[in-house]
Amino acid sequence: MTDDFEQWGFDTRAVRVGSHRTNEGEHSEPIFPTSSYVFASAAEAAARFAGTQPGNIYSRFTNPTVRAFEERLAALEGGETCVATASGMAAILATCAGLLKAGDHIVSSRAIFGTTVILFQNYLAKFGIETTFVAQTDYAAWERAITPKTRLLFLETPSNPLTEIADIARLAKLARAKGCLLVVDNCFCTPALQQPLALGADIVIHSATKYLDGQGRCVGGAVVGDKERVGKEVYGFLRTAGPCLSPFNAWVFLKGLETLTLRMQAHSRNALALAQWLEQQPGVKRVFYPGLPSHPQHPLARKQQQDFGGLLSFEVEGGTKAAWRLIDATTFISITANLGDTKTTITHPATTTHGRLTPEQRAEAGIGDGLVRVSVGLEDVEDLKKDLARGL
Ligand SMILES: *Cc1c(COP(=O)(O)O)cnc(C)c1O
Repeated sequence: MTDDFEQWGFDTRAVRVGSHRTNEGEHSEPIFPTSSYVFASAAEAAARFAGTQPGNIYSRFTNPTVRAFEERLAALEGGETCVATASGMAAILATCAGLLKAGDHIVSSRAIFGTTVILFQNYLAKFGIETTFVAQTDYAAWERAITPKTRLLFLETPSNPLTEIADIARLAKLARAKGCLLVVDNCFCTPALQQPLALGADIVIHSATKYLDGQGRCVGGAVVGDKERVGKEVYGFLRTAGPCLSPFNAWVFLKGLETLTLRMQAHSRNALALAQWLEQQPGVKRVFYPGLPSHPQHPLARKQQQDFGGLLSFEVEGGTKAAWRLIDATTFISITANLGDTKTTITHPATTTHGRLTPEQRAEAGIGDGLVRVSVGLEDVEDLKKDLARGL
């Protein structure tokens, strides 16, 4: 199989890159469930360990199935290289641990995944890495927060759960001017809908657990970027510290990538229809979805993304009580905090994903008690409307 994929379009890459057929002539990519590899001689073992001969050594850091997933995702994001990790959180940890040292500083959007906030605030801080949180779309605040010690700007766009859109090109320019790196968690759009590297970002993070798998089966993650930082520093941390991706999970993600465009288009279509319907419902105060003209960054979303994605949230009147009533009245929509599944999921951010934040942090992040988040799946949208209408 050719590796010369530069001339291929996105969907051909999604199906073909990373396939290296073995002598068995298999059509689908094989899984290599092996922890170690055999060397032909002591000299070959020595050369592999010394790094003077390429080849597999040990599956904490070299596995053919994991590599196939890494090659394919790198080709889709337009990055030089990719390092796969055991989870999305491991991808963020490996990026920070690989690239930062005590005394360094992160400026992060406040509107990021709750666990990432905890990682920055409670754990990286223990090792002398401080984080300043700013509002996702307050560009003056981003600039003000940058100090000579700032090494990373970090964000997710669209954000979870309010779907705020950050201007990647604008923040990339700021990062470059200030000599720091822009890291974008591209979980919600995936490269099928948004390519942060092409907009100037330096590193892309993925929780493959979400749309890359797309069917809620495996936990995994990835970091995409250049050979020097990601290929050496992030990979170096991963091979040493060990939060590596299992070959089985890598294979599931590899297969998931083959249908990524189709799924993201279908998720977006269903989410837009549901968001438009929710906007018409009494008892719904506000709907957050970048595809709605009422969304404050709708024009930016149109420019920066190829479609609007599968995640939406809405605020019901009546706080936690009303939100829980709506959630409990559903019959088939799954009450689970996961997202990016073919199955529609519903959650109450204030008491689940963002429950470990203080009430002040939640208020700052705009997570109201009446907020309900829906990851819109691939069921019939009319059935989704009926299931939500029961508790409205
Ligand atoms: C889920 C998620 C993560 C963490 O990924 P895991 O695979 O659960 O570790 C990071 N960022 C975003 C935006 C997520 O939704």
